[in-house]
This record gives sequence, structure tokens and C-alpha cells, in this order.
Amino acid sequence: MPGEFDLIARYFTRHAARDDVALGVGDDAALLRPPPGQVLAATVDTLIAGVHFPEQTDPADIGHKALAVNLSDLAAMGAEPAWVMLALSLPRVDDSWLHAFAEGFHALAARHRVALVGGDTTRGPLSITVQALGWVPEGQALRRDGARPGDGLYVTGTLGDAGLGLAVLQGRAEVPPQYREALCARLNRPEPRVEAGLALRGVASAAIDISDGLAADLGHLLVASGVGGRVALDRLPRGDAVRAADAHGRLALTAGDDYELVFALPAAQERALAALADRLPPLSCIGRVEAEPGLRLVDADDNPVAFSHQGYDHFREF
Ligand code: ADP
Ligand code: MG
Repeated sequence: MPGEFDLIARYFTRHAARDDVALGVGDDAALLRPPPGQVLAATVDTLIAGVHFPEQTDPADIGHKALAVNLSDLAAMGAEPAWVMLALSLPRVDDSWLHAFAEGFHALAARHRVALVGGDTTRGPLSITVQALGWVPEGQALRRDGARPGDGLYVTGTLGDAGLGLAVLQGRAEVPPQYREALCARLNRPEPRVEAGLALRGVASAAIDISDGLAADLGHLLVASGVGGRVALDRLPRGDAVRAADAHGRLALTAGDDYELVFALPAAQERALAALADRLPPLSCIGRVEAEPGLRLVDADDNPVAFSHQGYDHFREF
């Protein structure tokens, strides 16, 4: 597109502050030096205007989130993020939009010390694709398929905040005004749990990040592991606003976009987990892995709770 090279030079060429980047933006391909003995973890995600975010979303939030969702996937593998690539499709060259987008993107990249090493820029409907690359020592990745019956199930942070934030923005829910900003920040500025993923290497038996809601994503982990699970609804970690809006925990169970981690922990690792407390966000034990396939929900007295995803379309994102 016209001005493409200018635009790349202005917004997407930053000195790569990593010595494992032999050659970054500017040539036909980047040249990268993965450390010996490590496995490369690679992930890619696309955000499309009107599908994954409303067209008028603050571009700084879009820049942040496009990177954050990819770093969250690396976190869920226990991988250390190193390099990212950015493919942008833009309807027009809008300097103030690009400036804000790049700021949101680079600020998060700098916090996690990841280098933008290349990408592609074309004219078309607004869409952002980020590929993130990182590494993990051979055999230590937090895969989805390692959970075993008897393992505890844990989640980081709190659930349902982003989903409630979206419902508030769309006029489907109301919350006391003091909660609004924090809920919208959870939706627009998710913080990938990179540190937690690294700390859980060699400790958790399986992990996944929660992008589509706990029930859906934990379901993927259980299926991949060939097991089932039991989750106590009253143990789902919820902030005050979500608790008030969602007395039964259904929002925490089904809302997406929180980008917390859910992981399985063998009983033999409980001490190791406790010893990691200062490297981990608040954790909640929500249930346990069982041999019988399927996800079973129970109340505080361990009585089964019927659960229909259909019934909560109200809180579903799209
Ligand atoms: P080619 O035609 O060889 O694909 P491009 O003209 O697409 O090269 O890109 C030139 C250089 O700029 C390449 O190094 C590419 O990786 C980089 N680049 C293009 N778009 C972006 C972007 N949005 N962010 C970061 N780097 C980019
Ligand atoms: Mg290209």
C-alpha cells in the first residue's frame, strides 16, 4: 500500500533489545537464534474489527490486546516469550490511529521484553494478526493432555470480569459506577499470565488459558487428557462486581476474555506450588480431575448442579 515503508519505519521498527535477534524488521525474513536445548513455541491469533472488537475501540487497547492474547497462549504452554510478528490489514493510513495502536502494542511488548521482528502491512478491512514465538526446555511445556485423575484443578486470578465488562459496555448489565473502569480494563487490557506459566513448569500436569470461558476451555483440557472433572461453582474466584451480578457463578463459568490460566496439579506437587506463592497470582482450587469423562458441576455440598450453556446466551460474547 502507498506509504507502506514509511509507516513500517515510523511505527513498527524499534531497535530489538535482545541479542537473540540477528536481524529484525527490514529484510525479507527475520533471523533469530533460538537457545540450544529448547523447543520453540509458536502461536498466532487474528483479531478482526466488528468480530473480535467493535470498530471504534480505542486503538491503544487493540494494540495491547492483539499482543496479549498471543502472550497468553505462550503463558499457557509455560513458554518464555521472545519474538513477535505483526500482520496488519488497514482500511487507510490514519496516523493518529497507528500511533495509538503502536503505543499499546509496544508498551506491552517492552514489559515482557519481546521484540517485534517482522510482519506484513496491507490495505483491506481492519484486521490484526500477531504471531508470538517463545521457548520452553524440551519436555517441560504445559500441554493440555497431561491431567490425571486425582489432580487438583486451579485457576489464577478472578473470572467473569471481562464478560461483565462487555455486558456493561453493551448495555446488557449494570454495575455500581466504581467497578466500571476495572471491568472494562479486564476486557480491553488483559494481562497475560506469563510469569505464572513459567513458574508452573514442571509443577502443573496440564494447563490452558481461558479465552472462551472456563467451562469451554477446561473442557478442552479434560478431553485432551482423556479424563473428566468436578468443579464446585461456589469456589470459582469472582471479584465483588461479578459476585453481585452473578450469584450462582454462571458468568464466571461461561464468560470469555479473562485470559487467566486453569491448570491441573498432581497431589505430589502441592508443596511445590505452595513454595511458589510469591511468583504466582492469587490461586483458587476449584475442583479435581476424575477418570469419568465430562465436566460435572457441584454446589457447596457436593450436590450436582444442572448446567446448560444455552441458558446463558445472555452473557455470551457474540
Ligand atoms: P516483503 O515484500 O519481502 O514481504 P514487506 O515489504 O512486506 O517485505 O516488509 C518489509 C519489512 O518490514 C519486512 O522485514 C517485514 O517483516 C517488515 N514489516 C512489514 N510490515 C510490518 C509490521 N506491520 N510490523 C513489523 N514489521 C513489518
Ligand atoms: Mg510482506
